[in-house]
Amino acid sequence: MNEQEIIDCESVYLANVFSKKSIVFTCGKGALLWDINGKEYIDCASSYGVAALGHCHPKIVDAIKVQAEQLITLHSCYYNDKRAEFIQKLISILPKGLDKAFLSNSGAESVECAIKLARKATGKTEIIGIMGAYHGKTMGALSVTWDKKYREPFMPLIPDVKHVAPDNIDKLREAITGNTAAVILEPIRGEGGIRVPVDGYLQQVRELCDEKGVLLIFDEVQTSFGRTGKLFCCQNWNVVPDIMCLAKPFAGGLPIGITVARYSIMLSFKLGEHTTTFSGSPLVCAAGCAAIDVLLEEDLVSKTAINGEYFKNQLEQVALKHKIVKEVRGLGLMLGMELRYDVYGVIMKALNKGVLIIDAGKTVVRLLPPLVISKEQIDKVVRVLDEVLGDEENERAGSTISN
Ligand SMILES: *Cc1c(COP(=O)(O)O)cnc(C)c1O
Repeated sequence: MNEQEIIDCESVYLANVFSKKSIVFTCGKGALLWDINGKEYIDCASSYGVAALGHCHPKIVDAIKVQAEQLITLHSCYYNDKRAEFIQKLISILPKGLDKAFLSNSGAESVECAIKLARKATGKTEIIGIMGAYHGKTMGALSVTWDKKYREPFMPLIPDVKHVAPDNIDKLREAITGNTAAVILEPIRGEGGIRVPVDGYLQQVRELCDEKGVLLIFDEVQTSFGRTGKLFCCQNWNVVPDIMCLAKPFAGGLPIGITVARYSIMLSFKLGEHTTTFSGSPLVCAAGCAAIDVLLEEDLVSKTAINGEYFKNQLEQVALKHKIVKEVRGLGLMLGMELRYDVYGVIMKALNKGVLIIDAGKTVVRLLPPLVISKEQIDKVVRVLDEVLGDEENERAGSTISN
């Protein structure tokens, strides 16, 4: 198929639920992607954070190749060497206290499991989420997601869910009742605009949950795996949840979801109460082992802290030159640049100049580059953003800029 045939084929035969850019990508290496015409791009989206180790990392490729010839699939009703190795590696890097896991296939599934687990462990039904939160789009995860445009077409969702304002411990305290099973939140909201919590908030939430006997769930699907300069984002504030949701980058790009919990909490699931066919497949677990190895061997967590700081400083310099930029925020290589209007034009212009970026809501440019991105590549992205913001400003000159 040629470029147009590929685009037509996907558009006709696949559900039209993704806002697509008309580019066909055919290969990748590290922080780079190439389209079908051989044009090179710097990937600052990492497929929404999945490609944290870059594309086709040789150790991930090798691990998948070797395991593919050994055993690809095995139901969790049998034991497997790679599954055991993966879970051992994972538990060894988790915050102390989180030491039992359920393996699934996506972020939304990791949230589904967390919600069911919280209800089972407490015998209560109510879940409190945060306004602006994103937790995925299956019915349970969707119920705790905030954006009405995702939720309203599918009402009724699961009952006993409410949302409270972020960064406000008093509102959360008022919301908790005798029937509250858990509070769920993203330590840094991703889809919600790269929102870093005010200092002290997560500690206050932890204390409040302890005081009220409510479970605390952190959705670290986007923020974990070194993304924010710590292995897990909650470690930036030394707060450990009772249940944590992981997914995107944990199997080097293969689909995975992981729900981890305190031992006693996970024990509340009885035989058969929560299972899935693909749970812990040997192929995915082999890729997951390699992914954790690479993350640690290449010291990507501290590199991310350093490169993230550098990237953010550079973006702040750029922001000073362009009135259309309202704010730069984020931690590590999870960065956002809020504009005074819709970011669509900036995203498309950057794409034309060979840089992939994504949005986080209408007015926020989101940067989630692979953690292996080099300083030179960061510099190039910053140059392109500088140009693109200038072009956008020129184009809009004369038209009123909303605040
Ligand atoms: C992406 C994301 C999800 C959903 O993950 P899927 O794999 O798309 O189902 C859930 N929570 C957060 C914080 C996410 O960023």
